[in-house]
Amino acid sequence: MRKVYADYAATSPCDPGVVRRMEPFFAAVFANAHSAHAQGQEARTAVEDAREYVADMLGAVPGEVVFTSGGTEADNTAVIGTYLANRGWGNHLVTTTIEHHAVLEAVRYCASRFGARVSEVACSPDGRVDPDRIVAAIAPDTVLVSVMHANNETGVIQPIAEIGERVRALNRTRSHRVYFHTDAVQTFGHLPIAVDALGVDLLSASAHKFCGPKGVGFLYVRTGTRMDALLHGGGHEDGRRSSTLNTPGIVGLHAAARIARENMASEADRVRALRDMLWDRVRASVPDVVVNGTMEHRLDGNLNVAFPGVEGESLLVALDAAGIAVSTGSACSSGSQEASHVLLAMGIDPVTARSSLRFTLGRFSGEEDVQRILEVLPPVVTRLRDMSPVYRKAGT
Ligand code: PLP
Repeated sequence: MRKVYADYAATSPCDPGVVRRMEPFFAAVFANAHSAHAQGQEARTAVEDAREYVADMLGAVPGEVVFTSGGTEADNTAVIGTYLANRGWGNHLVTTTIEHHAVLEAVRYCASRFGARVSEVACSPDGRVDPDRIVAAIAPDTVLVSVMHANNETGVIQPIAEIGERVRALNRTRSHRVYFHTDAVQTFGHLPIAVDALGVDLLSASAHKFCGPKGVGFLYVRTGTRMDALLHGGGHEDGRRSSTLNTPGIVGLHAAARIARENMASEADRVRALRDMLWDRVRASVPDVVVNGTMEHRLDGNLNVAFPGVEGESLLVALDAAGIAVSTGSACSSGSQEASHVLLAMGIDPVTARSSLRFTLGRFSGEEDVQRILEVLPPVVTRLRDMSPVYRKAGT
């Protein structure tokens, strides 16, 4: 049976070129990148090359890149670290209802543990956040605004540059600046990102979302940003994140970033064409399907669709039995029957939200994968709908 992987937003396979680049750093070049000896310095050079490369991609300077264990740590450090460092003057955090739990739970932790005041700004029905609503939520004691670059469930791209511009304008009138963070875990390596153009002070990314290894990412921290460390110890990463550097992971992140950057435009076109083909044919062969979120501002590989009358979870299981891996939402919420907080936040009713599936295509997806999905999906939906009294009663 041909296996199809259509869950790239959850994680992506490590590119073989990345694996090859990492391999020597597990055994041959294993020394601690902070050791003074030559062997340590060889590892250190690889780490600093990676830092320079990432900084160059972002339009930043190398000292502004802090390597982390992934997106979750980067998000937690951005939120909790800036909150704690600025608590002397401010106590308010602004975010949105559609953030990944790595941001939402970090913000809620600041509220429950330290008494932070939190504003979670709602998005529009199309899945986009309105910059006016973000600006309206900012108060004199706001420390941080955190808005994701693209949503992991719907793929909807947020107007970060516009929000960044507005926050910058506000900062010119304030004695304490509001920091602006974006969770770019779904976009770094997929969209061109320049931190100055986006107007962000902090930006999170994770290698496993762009065909790099799992367990490594980075947090961009603009020079001058007041941020506490969450990990204390040997003072690595200029005191911002202690722990022996994950040299193989960082080398892998570097290689993955290079491959992603060199192929970004052509890959975007290729993956978008596949996604559009999938959507066009699903629409043509399955009645009553509805796409969740705007198609206009959306990551190229993402298609999030509601199949009214069908439980997304049942659909997922049926597709899985045919060797097709998809998701009902973010990886961490799959396995539970709860409706996605993102779809609910868009005003989608819980039943429709639970009937939704997320297909995400990527580097190793091809036309044959789309063909296979199209072969399996329509009859499965029909079969499940035939078993659904609700769908039949509605007469749709
Ligand atoms: N933020 C977003 C938008 C994500 O999609 C993810 C991963 O699913 C994360 C953060 C967490 O990243 P990591 O898995 O590297 O901890």
